[in-house]
Amino acid sequence: MRSNILFSALLTALLVACTTVPSSFVPSASTDHIRRDVDYLASAELAGRDTGSEGYRKAAQYVAQQFERMGLAPAGEQGFFQEVPFRRASWDNTEPSLVLKGSNSETTFTFGEEFIAAPSAVNERSSLEADLVFVGYGIEALDYGLNDYANLDVKGKIAVILSGRPDSLPSEVGAHYASSRNKRETAARNGAVGYITLYTPEREKRRPFARYAEHRHDDTFDWVNRKGKPGSATPGLHPGAMLNSDAAGKLFVGAQRSLQGVFEDMENGKNPKGFALPYRAELNTNSKHEAITSPNVVAVLPGSDPLLKDEYVVFSAHLDHIGKKDDGQIYYGAQDNAAGIAVMLETARLFIESGQSPRRSLLFVAVTGEEKGLLGSDYFAEYPTVPLQSIVANINLDMPMLLYPFRDIIAFGAEHSSLGQIAKHAASRSGLKLSPDPMPEEVIFVRSDHYNFVRRGVPSIYLITGREAQDPDIDGTAMQVAFLQESYHKPGDAPDAGINYVAAKQFTEVNYLIAREVADAEGKPSWYGGDFFGDLFGQD
Ligand SMILES: [Zn+2]
Repeated sequence: MRSNILFSALLTALLVACTTVPSSFVPSASTDHIRRDVDYLASAELAGRDTGSEGYRKAAQYVAQQFERMGLAPAGEQGFFQEVPFRRASWDNTEPSLVLKGSNSETTFTFGEEFIAAPSAVNERSSLEADLVFVGYGIEALDYGLNDYANLDVKGKIAVILSGRPDSLPSEVGAHYASSRNKRETAARNGAVGYITLYTPEREKRRPFARYAEHRHDDTFDWVNRKGKPGSATPGLHPGAMLNSDAAGKLFVGAQRSLQGVFEDMENGKNPKGFALPYRAELNTNSKHEAITSPNVVAVLPGSDPLLKDEYVVFSAHLDHIGKKDDGQIYYGAQDNAAGIAVMLETARLFIESGQSPRRSLLFVAVTGEEKGLLGSDYFAEYPTVPLQSIVANINLDMPMLLYPFRDIIAFGAEHSSLGQIAKHAASRSGLKLSPDPMPEEVIFVRSDHYNFVRRGVPSIYLITGREAQDPDIDGTAMQVAFLQESYHKPGDAPDAGINYVAAKQFTEVNYLIAREVADAEGKPSWYGGDFFGDLFGQD
């Protein structure tokens, strides 16, 4: 009896060792490691890690050093680094000019009051005069019954485009179609040579044009492709401008409808139709270009499975933040995104400490230029250091909101691919719930680095902590909202203010479990059938 019990206990232990342990054993994340990484990355010495700055470069060296210390292999282009060439365009003490020309009238709009424009990263000098055609929202979404360019001739002309989108489009789909990239590409595809965007009353309510105009002297950043062209450039299209709604009304005086009538259509949920406008516009811009480089930092943990090791699960987190302002005030970017980097580093350490190599290979990518418009990740996704077809998933970490020990996590993008089910399963193994997106109106799915992988067909999720605190006296929603309002992109997002390291540990461990499941599963993640993004961008 006794020996039988011993034997069966031994057998059980053996079975556990052979089967259960590799999949359910979660190594313990170290709050000391995470704290040390956040403290350094968000320190005054790194001065807010602005893209292209010395502080950013120190941060990149630190991440490379950590990768090396934990035994990861370099997977950049020069060791751990992938230098991203950027172009900075600035107005250089000049201002753009925009003149509206009627058959016997000319109206010069005031820069910064009636119109704004961003310095072009494509051409230092640009001069365009052409006829104007109003194209409604400027969206072609045939599956949704929208074709704003139907029956309009915009060849060689300037498309005049309403900002935003009709309510008939679901929010994430709409965010895709309403993105300035998509609207520019649609205009160019239809033969337009320029574009003017109109600020609508609806947008004015959310963010006044005047506040937007405060940024009129900001530089433009873009990455430069291997042909020397800016990555976000739309071939064939001149730089554009944005008009406030009062100035915009002048383009419609004498046209077949007034802008007021168009705005009323919008208010009534109708999709305004386009028509030719009785004016030409002349837009001149003069910007100065400067070349800058700033590295992505890339490491690999090779997979153990003879076949699956050629597939990669990519972790991404942005290493840059917004630097310091002219008055010397440093924006430390502790939650945004020293925390995401620290969690990614500790997740890598957990894989190594587990003693169990993942079956698929894991790629850890710290990207630059996120705050300039998701640029470093776009460059990496355009020039990945492993074949794009071998990237089976992206897990993105950006401002994880490590504010309190939590009961749930949020995976933006969970409803688009099987990564959602994996995240849910892994979360439940950590005793956590997967909660739905608490702010769908913010369309986060198209707003962080993972979207550059999505646009190239890779199923992706972006993880943050949920809003249910373990402590019933803590209102998680209130704390997250307060962080967003009071500290996000402000000097208050500092390491000594508000990072909860118990939450950091929890978050790292659930990340580990999610990545572990993705990396070890028999099949790779897939887009759900009929998913908009899967159908639009999917590789299979
Ligand atoms: Zn940010």
